[in-house]
Amino acid sequence: MSDLRVRFAPSPTGYLHIGGARTALFNYLLAKGQSGKFVLRIEDTDVARSTQESVDAILDAMEWLGLSCDEGPIYQSDRFDLYRQKVQQLLDEGKAYRCYCSAEELDAKRELAKKEGRKPKYDGTCRHRTDSPDAPSVVRFKLPEGREETTFIDRIKGSICFRHEELDDLIIQRTDGTPTYNFVVVIDDAEMGINLVIRGDDHINNTPRQILLYEALGYSVPEFAHVPMILGADKKRLSKRHGATSVMVYQEMGYLPEAMVNYLVRLGWSFGDEEIFSIDDLVEKFSLDNVGRSAGVFNPEKLLWLNSHYIKTGDPQRLSDLLKPFLEKNGIIYKNGPDLIEVVQGLQERSSTLVEMALGAEFYFADQLTYDEKAKKKFLKPEQKDLFLLLLEKLDQCPSFTEESLEKVFGEVMEITELKFGKVAQPLRVALTGGAPSPGIYDVLRVLGRDIALKRISSALEVLGS
Ligand code: GLU
Repeated sequence: MSDLRVRFAPSPTGYLHIGGARTALFNYLLAKGQSGKFVLRIEDTDVARSTQESVDAILDAMEWLGLSCDEGPIYQSDRFDLYRQKVQQLLDEGKAYRCYCSAEELDAKRELAKKEGRKPKYDGTCRHRTDSPDAPSVVRFKLPEGREETTFIDRIKGSICFRHEELDDLIIQRTDGTPTYNFVVVIDDAEMGINLVIRGDDHINNTPRQILLYEALGYSVPEFAHVPMILGADKKRLSKRHGATSVMVYQEMGYLPEAMVNYLVRLGWSFGDEEIFSIDDLVEKFSLDNVGRSAGVFNPEKLLWLNSHYIKTGDPQRLSDLLKPFLEKNGIIYKNGPDLIEVVQGLQERSSTLVEMALGAEFYFADQLTYDEKAKKKFLKPEQKDLFLLLLEKLDQCPSFTEESLEKVFGEVMEITELKFGKVAQPLRVALTGGAPSPGIYDVLRVLGRDIALKRISSALEVLGS
């Protein structure tokens, strides 16, 4: 067991975004691969924006992806006492101070700075105040004096240096007494023993402030690894314009979690030119060394391609379990009738998603087929009457619906009618499926079974030419 401790720290203000899921995955893989610990922390200090619904959505998505944590979920909202103590500690040590500047004053200063072409930042008005007016206040962290820059070595991006002139006295506690993100993230990562922080590179600018807070609070500073953003095809930050960004929407669209995991990991990480990785492969192979420095581009076609791959190669029993909710959603009653696992086996090759598979499965379970109009016109014509009667007879006599005996039936029918294979198979396929795209005709017959097959041919006979 290593002493690696990593964490995923989502703010529950929406669903689990593709980018967040990738961060969670990288953390998970590294912890698993090095027998470290993966901690899940819910960053819900922003009480107004955090909801239980969103916490549940995040937990559901992580469960779906199989990203189980070793510790957590730990809620920041349960830890306000600790944060208050730490604010007091910094105040007592003279490393933080109360600031009474009103929002209006600050706005006015900001406007002035903008007008004068300066970067707006807090001017330190309350830094040296000795009185304590009876007015609302925030608590600010004093940017340490006598230091010009903070540098850290990012495990992905290399050395990063921030000039302190870019920074100002950060608010660590709001007027309502709640602590702010940059402050609590430091306390929690330190108190939870996190020694490697892996997160999106939108947090790089926060890192120098956080390092200064670690130092002020007497904690050791963890390592950082900032993962590049995910962009859309137009190289703009991934958003809804590029397709769904919520992980769970992909579940609803019939994607398999293993396809999603495989897709997410390759958005920023590579291993030679390999594309297909099981989760076990990833646990073994994943390392930060092969995480690229540039942004990953979201490619829905590749995700779909991976999904087809995992459907094609998936265990039919498991796929049939995953398919059930999709069938139910379409009102398909699959409990009586053809064996669902066999149906799935026939559709694996031709379905890219479970939604597609559910559509493909529909004809197997239909009580009454609805014929595709074009197919009906073309293949269910009066002249097919003899063919269907002959098929009824031969299939009825066929000892069992194995591929071999069905081939024999077809041979006989073709000989008697002097029709080519397609001329027998195509009308029969329409009779059996209604004209839906379907697996091979023997497969359809085998899976439907004799009773349903004969019933459907009889029904087709009734509609011939109508
Ligand atoms: N809660 C932050 C977010 O959701 C992440 C903080 C971090 O990873 O340091 O963006």
